[in-house]
Amino acid sequence: MFDRILIANRGEIACRVIDTAKAMGVSTVAVYSDADRTARHVAMADLAVHIGGAAPADSYLNGDRVIAAARETGAQAIHPGYGFLSENPEFVEAVEAAGLVFIGPSAGAIRAMGLKDAAKALMQDAGVPVVPGYHGDTQDPDHLSAAADGIGYPVLIKAVAGGGGKGMRRVDDAADFADQLAAAQREAQSAFGNPAVLIEKYIEQPRHIEVQVFGDGTDAIHLYERDCSLQRRHQKVIEEAPAPGMTADMRAAMGEAAVRAAKAIGYAGAGTVEFIVDGANGLRPDGFWFMEMNTRLQVEHPVTEAITGLDLVAWQLRVAAGEPLPMRQQDVPLTGHAFEARLYAEDVPAGFLPATGTLSHLSFPATARIDSGVRAGDAISPFYDPMIAKVVTHGPTRAVALKKLAAALDATEVVGCVTNLSFLGALARHEGFTRGEVDTGLIARDLDALTAVTPPSPARLAQAALAATDTETDALTGFTLWAPLWRTVTLEIDGQEITARVARTGPDEAEIEVAGTTVTARNAAGWTFDEAPAAASHIEGGTVTLFGPDGVSARILDPLDRAAADASGSDIIEAPMPGMLARMLVAAGDSVTAGQKLAVLEAMKMEHALTAPRDAVVAEVLVPEGTQIEAHAPLIRFAGDDA
Ligand code: ADP
Ligand code: ADP
Ligand code: MG
Repeated sequence: MFDRILIANRGEIACRVIDTAKAMGVSTVAVYSDADRTARHVAMADLAVHIGGAAPADSYLNGDRVIAAARETGAQAIHPGYGFLSENPEFVEAVEAAGLVFIGPSAGAIRAMGLKDAAKALMQDAGVPVVPGYHGDTQDPDHLSAAADGIGYPVLIKAVAGGGGKGMRRVDDAADFADQLAAAQREAQSAFGNPAVLIEKYIEQPRHIEVQVFGDGTDAIHLYERDCSLQRRHQKVIEEAPAPGMTADMRAAMGEAAVRAAKAIGYAGAGTVEFIVDGANGLRPDGFWFMEMNTRLQVEHPVTEAITGLDLVAWQLRVAAGEPLPMRQQDVPLTGHAFEARLYAEDVPAGFLPATGTLSHLSFPATARIDSGVRAGDAISPFYDPMIAKVVTHGPTRAVALKKLAAALDATEVVGCVTNLSFLGALARHEGFTRGEVDTGLIARDLDALTAVTPPSPARLAQAALAATDTETDALTGFTLWAPLWRTVTLEIDGQEITARVARTGPDEAEIEVAGTTVTARNAAGWTFDEAPAAASHIEGGTVTLFGPDGVSARILDPLDRAAADASGSDIIEAPMPGMLARMLVAAGDSVTAGQKLAVLEAMKMEHALTAPRDAVVAEVLVPEGTQIEAHAPLIRFAGDDA
């Protein structure tokens, strides 16, 4: 086994790898960027090396710098985590040329699976069923359009170099094909520098079921499947293992196909073979097709660890150190059911925009496995994936594991940035999902219900109001000898002002007038509001946060300083969210018309266009292309009113 390894990543996956290395007595080296000097993964590692600026290209994607850090610290091997350099064959070759071990597959195996068209051709030759479609070299529009006719609509156009759900277009009608093809090619060119596409039959009620494989370069086994059908815009939200409705026949067929795929490329380490399954007629051994192989450890690997009781990172280290596969296929355990929910800093009502902030309070229940790269006090910065944690639960049955997930999400407390917590909670309670009816369209179909903001109950409003009066240090409060003193508090909740009147009627009693009713609060072994128990709460910086499924975040408004609001004479175009300024489409002196595209921001693997709010002349561009920006960063200044 290695004495020391370097982890070429950050965040939760770096922490995850360090945990296992420590348990195996392997010393760890972290690397970090300017933005991560005080990050959790740096604090956890035995040694840490600064490798450059906050932008990924200046640090976590700088392979030479990472390799130099490994040599400086005497690390013998590099674990790439996922994302960043994990699927970069040139990096693997450079690591090996430096006399170090890459904890993962060979450069050749990564290359074989790097492009979707070549991977599909290879898999077809290996006898693995692939999604029907065209994945040849000819990219001429007429040829592709004829191929689409042959496949039959609807079809899916996919970038061969694609990833993260980018560069994909569904086409329902031959009349739209040419336009959609051109758009997909443009998107693929700008995102991946490669305009080539393939055409697939669009599976109507698709389920995403993937198989965890493990190889040692010669032999390979599988560790069962995960169902990742709960997706939003082709990105995974909640994953589970095993797949609901999985039969022994189909598991055997999928496992065998996945192992064949791994063996075909002499795979070493952890990998995932992703299949699409037609959910329309139930799960059948002949109803699954290869989509792609991810040649790395996957974000959702903890659900596999939960049902098998195995540590996949430990296996990665052992295989990379030259050991054979630690287990035979027939000995791999499968116990119960597991779920993982991805908790992100994101603004759900604003369309799931990534958010930033400092986590002034962060607390998780002990009933779930929590994989996280941040602690209370840490910031979610605009530079990286805004993931806060993965919440993982395990139970003897699917129903129990899902109940545990819902309860764990309810008991999760985050203050300091908006999150998708209540969206995840709504998903965990979704009726169809509870019954095991999953397909990749579920979230889109029920998005309104899943993201509905229910107005807080009078009991919760009363609790927030009472908490708000408690924080005020007003000398008058103590002197209410016979008549209760009514205090007025104004709270801002979801942009709305709510006024409440609070009277302390005794040391353990209060009345709160709010939302047209009066709520009675009593304290006897904990406060109740109209008999309902109080929610867990946190007060800080003038904001009261009540946690739980019907939680509330209320800013206490100071009546004296409410003037600043209309000072925004908006000649400044601001970034609506943190991200990277991918393109600036205007220059000083340009006249623009209302609705015209001004710039393109890239955030959360998606592009967002910024448009002009009115006709204007551009006075100044304030930020160059390629800059990482915070939410509300000024980007463009318009010339004053009558320009
Ligand atoms: P999956 O196929 O399992 O859904 P993704 O493609 O969503 O995996 O996850 C890989 C992505 O995770 C990378 O492309 C990158 O955007 C992101 N990522 C990379 N490193 C980290 C990290 N340390 N923490 C969180 N996310 C990361
Ligand atoms: P990426 O590299 O972006 O992860 P994938 O090929 O893995 O691309 O596809 C991502 C997602 O798109 C899948 O999980 C599935 O939800 C959907 N998808 C892919 N291929 C098809 C198809 N042929 N029919 C319907 N949905 C598909
Ligand atoms: Mg995929």
